[in-house]
Formats: sequence, structure tokens, C-alpha cells
Amino acid sequence: MRCLALDIGGTKIAAALVENGVISQRQQISTPQDQSAQGMEQALKTLVTGYAGQFDAVAVASTGIINRGVLTALNPKNLGGLANFPLKACIARYTDKPIGLLNDVQAAVCAEYQLQEQNQSAVKNFLFITVSTGVGGGIILNGELTTGENGIAGHIGHTLADPNGPMCGCGRKGCVEAIASGRAIEAVSSQWAEPCSPKEVFERFRKNDEKATALVQRSAQAIANLIADMVISLDIQKVVLGGSVGLAQGYLPLVQQYLQTMPKFYQCPVEAAQSGADAGLLGAAYWLEQQVVKQ
Ligand SMILES: [Zn+2]
Repeated sequence: MRCLALDIGGTKIAAALVENGVISQRQQISTPQDQSAQGMEQALKTLVTGYAGQFDAVAVASTGIINRGVLTALNPKNLGGLANFPLKACIARYTDKPIGLLNDVQAAVCAEYQLQEQNQSAVKNFLFITVSTGVGGGIILNGELTTGENGIAGHIGHTLADPNGPMCGCGRKGCVEAIASGRAIEAVSSQWAEPCSPKEVFERFRKNDEKATALVQRSAQAIANLIADMVISLDIQKVVLGGSVGLAQGYLPLVQQYLQTMPKFYQCPVEAAQSGADAGLLGAAYWLEQQVVKQ
């Protein structure tokens, strides 16, 4: 099956043909920054019609939540004019091929799980966590992606880390994201006497700066606790960690260290994500192929 895969992010939209896990004719455009429905429709029309006749299905990975084909978010205000954008119906105006949609982290876990399968891993319950600007997750149970009826499954960055913690962008107090994410790190480091970016926090952390180390430790500890909660809730057998914070040098060993201090039942192997910038494209295409095979 040849898929037209689209990966819709906050700053760019990537498109490519994907067949048997191989990407071709990749291109990338800027996401319309006015967040208008018309701008997004025009961008999608250009991409989809540009590949006309070359694909059998359209696989979409998108930022936000995909609820029955409609784009939304935990905080829809962040999407501006794209809140409740009818993504599936919009694409369907420019193609009669089947369309499958996921959120981008759900797509990324599919890409990572495909790599596990290629390595003949026997893992059936698998978790991908991205620690980046925010904290997101994708959950594979019994070898299949869990999306949930409303597309929400996997939003594990919004589980509780500290009831007395900072307010989260979702409106709840003390979420993992409000403590562990790049944005959360920046909220603290930008207030220091010598303010710095999350990237500089990690540079200082690697030079054993006390304040930077405490801040990175606070993040890694929240992620280790999140992993422990997921392992004990869902019998997760393996976790892969991605994102700019998750893959920052020195971060993964710290998460592993905290996890190892917990009782055995809470532990599982944690590795670095491998699929990189094309995870959304590859994962969405892989997932859609599986859906078609099942029918
Ligand atoms: Zn939250």
C-alpha cells in the first residue's frame, strides 16, 4: 500500500509518500501562522492534490487531539482559528482515498514500535514518552495503539506529579508537564539572576552547576515516577524516551537512576527513541496499513 503521509505540526507540515516503511518525495511547508481554517485548508489542498494519483490512502499525524476526524486540544484556545477544525472532512474534499488520523505522539509510538517489531522484540505493552516543549505519550497495548474513543489516550503528561506544583497549561495544577517539560524548566530558569534557556540549563547541568542540576533532576524524577505509574497500571514492558529534553545528553541515565531506586515491579527498560524527525510520517503510515490489513 502506498500512503500519502502528512505530519501537521505547529510550525511546519511535512508530506511524503511512504511504502513499506520507506519515505520518498518528502517535502515540507510552513504551517499557516494565522491559525486560520482557510489557510490550513489551502495548505492541505496544495499538498494532497500535488501527490494525486500516487497514493492509495492518506495517513495523518497531527499536533493536538484528533477526535473523530476533528482537530482539537486540551486547551483549544492554543489552536486559535483551528480549534475544532474538521481535518478529515477537509482532506476528503481533495481525495476519495481512505484517510486515517492520529495525533503526532500516537503516530510516533507506532514508528518506535515498528522498530521493535523489526528487531523481533517480544514486547506487547510499549510506551513512548516525549519530553520536549510539553510532555506527551503514546501507548501500545497487546501490540496495538490505544487512541481511546475521543482520541485522548496517551496524554500522560497531564497526570499528577505534585498537587502543590505549578499550574499547567491544561488548567490542572501540578501535572507532569508543568514540572518536567522544557517550558517548565524555562519558567524557572528564566527567573534566575542569570536567566537562561533550557538548552543552557543542560549545558550548566553537565558542568555540575547546582541550580541547573536540581532543575534537571526535578524533571527526570517526575518522568521516572510517570514511568513507574504506567508500568504498574498497564504492565508496560519497555519505554522509549524522545524529545529535545528526553534526548538531551545526561537526561536518560538520570531517569534510569531514579527508576532503579523503586521496587522491582515499577521498573522496566528505558531506551532512547530512534525514529527521529520522520516518526510522525512513518508511524501514521504504519498504523494505517495495520488498520487496512485487519479489515
Ligand atoms: Zn496538564
